[in-house]
Amino acid sequence: LPVVAIVGRPNVGKSALVNRILGRREAVVEDTPGVTRDRVSYQAEWMNRRFTIVDTGGWEPDARGIDASVAAQAEIAIDLADAVMFVVDSNVGATATDEHVVRLLRKTKKPVYLVANKVDDARLEPQSADLWSLGLGEPHPVSALHGRGVADLLDLVVGKLPAVSAVAKREVGGPRRVAIVGRPNVGKSSLLNKAAGEERVVVNDLAGTTRDPVDEQIELGGKVWRFVDTAGIRRRVHLQQGADFYASLRTSAALEKAEVAVVVLDVTQPISEQDVRIVDLVLESGRALVIAYNKWDLLDDDRRRYLEREIEQNLAHVDWAPRVNISAKTGRHLEKLVPALELALESWDTRIGTGKFNAFLAELVAAHPHPLRGGKQPRILFGTQASSRPPTFVLFTTGFLDPGYRRYIQRRLRELYGFEGTPIVLNMRVRE
Ligand code: GDP
Repeated sequence: LPVVAIVGRPNVGKSALVNRILGRREAVVEDTPGVTRDRVSYQAEWMNRRFTIVDTGGWEPDARGIDASVAAQAEIAIDLADAVMFVVDSNVGATATDEHVVRLLRKTKKPVYLVANKVDDARLEPQSADLWSLGLGEPHPVSALHGRGVADLLDLVVGKLPAVSAVAKREVGGPRRVAIVGRPNVGKSSLLNKAAGEERVVVNDLAGTTRDPVDEQIELGGKVWRFVDTAGIRRRVHLQQGADFYASLRTSAALEKAEVAVVVLDVTQPISEQDVRIVDLVLESGRALVIAYNKWDLLDDDRRRYLEREIEQNLAHVDWAPRVNISAKTGRHLEKLVPALELALESWDTRIGTGKFNAFLAELVAAHPHPLRGGKQPRILFGTQASSRPPTFVLFTTGFLDPGYRRYIQRRLRELYGFEGTPIVLNMRVRE
């Protein structure tokens, strides 16, 4: 889906605008300074057009960090969105921080919409006209709180969005798209440098391909791969606070563009909540997954035992993901990354024919029927794979299947068909 990012200083009303666009109040909790929100992207729809909205304001810095963090938000938005909404508080006017961001926004060719918020009634409109001086074109007066002007703004923004996200589109036969994700300092940029340094960096693009300047094409294992959002990895954002929030933001945005994610973990550190959150973001995105355990050169026997236990405790739900134990520093086992990526993508692309899938279901039910529930037994009438990337199955049933039974189906699918490295989506249509 195309991506619209919302950027602006704290308290200008970004969250209110997101709520207004989503048309529901509970989407984003109240704007409390200093509060971290996990969710950064939401599916939105306007005039039958669906798009993803990325709220870059989830982490509100303290006064000292404002410039750095708002600038970081703007950079992320410029790199990864198809359109940017820059929100200014029209009662306050443009501040020094706003002007700092404007300098960044003026450099992009992507559409930037200057949103003058808190124009709660027509009498306030003249003051929003002052914002013409920012050089971002016409200010769009809105009241996110009351909804005033938001419909017109959305008509404009959505009308100019590309049909499919320009950044997510893959040319037929073009390089496959890889996102390297993970917490700060786990070794993402070292991995990228090692991969790019030892192999030939592809300078010339294939004829007719569009290339995002923040991506890098690298030849690995005899094939060209497109690593997305490498600018974001190389241009490291140094922040005292909010680092986890930015990692989530980057991850969500990079996943939008990728087909497969390499989650990099640092084996010298305990597996943290943030590591698990990043893995879960990959699962939610439906992208293929490879897990790279980095800094293997620093691992001793004691830590190694703990590590395996931590993996069992925290990452058992993704035990189907190909695993590589690497050292970005020494180059250890880096050559194993390509087969892991290929395996994950092959699984992600897999299609099972309807006949074969129904034979599988019949066998599975015969071996282990659904437990009785209130004297009745939900039956599976028919199933089909609705799509690949990731493999998505629909089951037509006479009742809701228990979660345990759904897990059983998924387990059997993995046992029989592999599906290593891809999430499997199982949907149900219950016929009364
Ligand atoms: P990023 O924030 O995820 O991009 O992490 P960096 O690539 O900047 O790495 C953070 C630190 O870990 C740097 O000091 C690297 O030199 C170091 N580092 C990265 N990978 C390895 C590795 O495999 N082994 C060792 N010993 N150090 C590593």
